[in-house]
Amino acid sequence: MRKKIVAGNWKMNTLPAEGVELAENIRADRNQVCSCVNFIVCPPFTHLGGVIEALRGSDIEVGAQNCAAEDKGAYTGEVSAAMLAALGCRYVILGHSERRQYYGETSATLNKKMAQAFANGLQPIYCVGENLEEREAGRHFEVVKTQIEEVIYNLTPAQFARTVIAYEPVWAIGTGKTATAEQAQEIHAYIRTILREKFGAAADETPILYGGSCKPSNAPELFAKEDVDGGLIGGAALKAADFLAIGKGFPQK
Ligand code: PEP
Repeated sequence: MRKKIVAGNWKMNTLPAEGVELAENIRADRNQVCSCVNFIVCPPFTHLGGVIEALRGSDIEVGAQNCAAEDKGAYTGEVSAAMLAALGCRYVILGHSERRQYYGETSATLNKKMAQAFANGLQPIYCVGENLEEREAGRHFEVVKTQIEEVIYNLTPAQFARTVIAYEPVWAIGTGKTATAEQAQEIHAYIRTILREKFGAAADETPILYGGSCKPSNAPELFAKEDVDGGLIGGAALKAADFLAIGKGFPQK
């Protein structure tokens, strides 16, 4: 049975005190959702200490939205994976389309960041996804395959076993346009196939999350699909009630 995951990417939103309040609100009502759902929140760096403190003793995990490609030293403005792990982070989002698009992150950079994450015991949530032009040209499979092959194929089996994948079509992020459940299933199944080609049956254990305007109303349809193991949530992760309601979207077994 694959892990069911709902991860919130807060992006550059909320002030530190607001972030702590959001975490407290999620914690307060977390028991309304099946304990079989794994919740992860990924606040900005400045909020991590306070949010980790607010969630201590709960089963809600904390992740960062990025980490440095180097281990330490003269890299002004960067935050290392070791620093995140020392604070109590368990996850780190890597390869988000906003990082690829606005900060020029390439597979070469992401290979180094993945190595830093693993060296420090962090589990990466590795994002892939095509933009609108690529989707319209029918190139989405090819784009996602390259993003997987250039980074995920370099992992050892032990590292792969600790990896979460997020499929996020860029055209659906923050736009209100969601991939249909059929579109999501089609590409999630494809991702699992290419993971299986490299890692065999271990790919059947890999959580593959959908991201892109996922909300309480569309989560049930998406999460009902066989290869959709949860969501990476942006906008709707900023309201505790919506974030938790998304966790109620898994099919009841
Ligand atoms: C995201 O950026 O990871 C995301 C899924 O955003 P949204 O839910 O706002 O589309």
